[in-house]
Amino acid sequence: MIARIDLHTHSTASDGTLSPAELVHAAAEEGLDVVAITDHDTTAGWQPALRALPRGPRLVRGAELSCRWSGEQPPVPLHLLAYLFDPDFPELVAELARVRIARAERGERIVALLRADGIDVSWPEILAGAGGGTVGRPHIAGALIRAGLVATTSEAFGPDWLGERYRLPKEDIDVFRAVRLVRAAGGVPVFAHPRATRRGRVVPDELIAELAAVGLAGLEADHEDHSPAERAHVRGLAAELGLLVTGSSDFHGTHKTVRLGAFTTESEAYERIVAASSGVIEVASG
Ligand code: AMP
Ligand code: ZN
Ligand code: FE
Ligand code: FE
Repeated sequence: MIARIDLHTHSTASDGTLSPAELVHAAAEEGLDVVAITDHDTTAGWQPALRALPRGPRLVRGAELSCRWSGEQPPVPLHLLAYLFDPDFPELVAELARVRIARAERGERIVALLRADGIDVSWPEILAGAGGGTVGRPHIAGALIRAGLVATTSEAFGPDWLGERYRLPKEDIDVFRAVRLVRAAGGVPVFAHPRATRRGRVVPDELIAELAAVGLAGLEADHEDHSPAERAHVRGLAAELGLLVTGSSDFHGTHKTVRLGAFTTESEAYERIVAASSGVIEVASG
């Protein structure tokens, strides 16, 4: 039987809509063999997911780090998945805390821009809606939907709204520093949706080669934001650089339309991730 392995999902600890407990139950219902919880810039979902883990899916604890590459100006934002790292590693803890604070400040500034244009959205209400989780544009999108200004999250990410007109940069982690910190914390870094041109600018292959040289372990190829040609390109690049390849849903509950397990990772790549981790944090089973 082929294992079903989904290594990229979000809960209410960031901008997903299922709680960590609901997420691991949904993974069981979906018949997943492995699910990774990878909330943006936080490990706050780890404990509740672990406590609620039912029989069935194994749980990989991870995060999706907001990074940037300063090889271009303005810097290119990118996402780094990090698996099985020590959540108490001080320098990483500090970076994540800094990014979360910066996200809240940026969210408040986006709301101020909206309000200056007469759009009636409230930052305290949006922050409360995030429920203490890492706040992001999907939470602001929710407020735009509730105000009847847009119909869907995708529409809220269009150029007239959070995609361009009311988009502000975040204070992200330098990607080289992030790769080194994840490794130093015993974890395994994988570049999330590296070629997703439909989300905006992407980094050159040369940068990915440089990251591989300092510890990047893999590339996410099968992702809904990659075209078939982009998936093929990522696979080719991974083969060239000796990197492992993953596929994942990037599930966000009702903040996105993609289903849990819509894209999956092969067992061999998953085993490589587990083998490359320090073992401080183990894969859990219920
Ligand atoms: P932020 O982290 O605040 O910059 O917001 C980015 C988040 O919004 C990411 O988690 C994306 O998955 C999500 N996102 C980006 N583009 C879209 C879109 N077109 N529709 C729905 N969600 C999106
Ligand atoms: Zn997200
Ligand atoms: Fe991402
Ligand atoms: Fe994600």
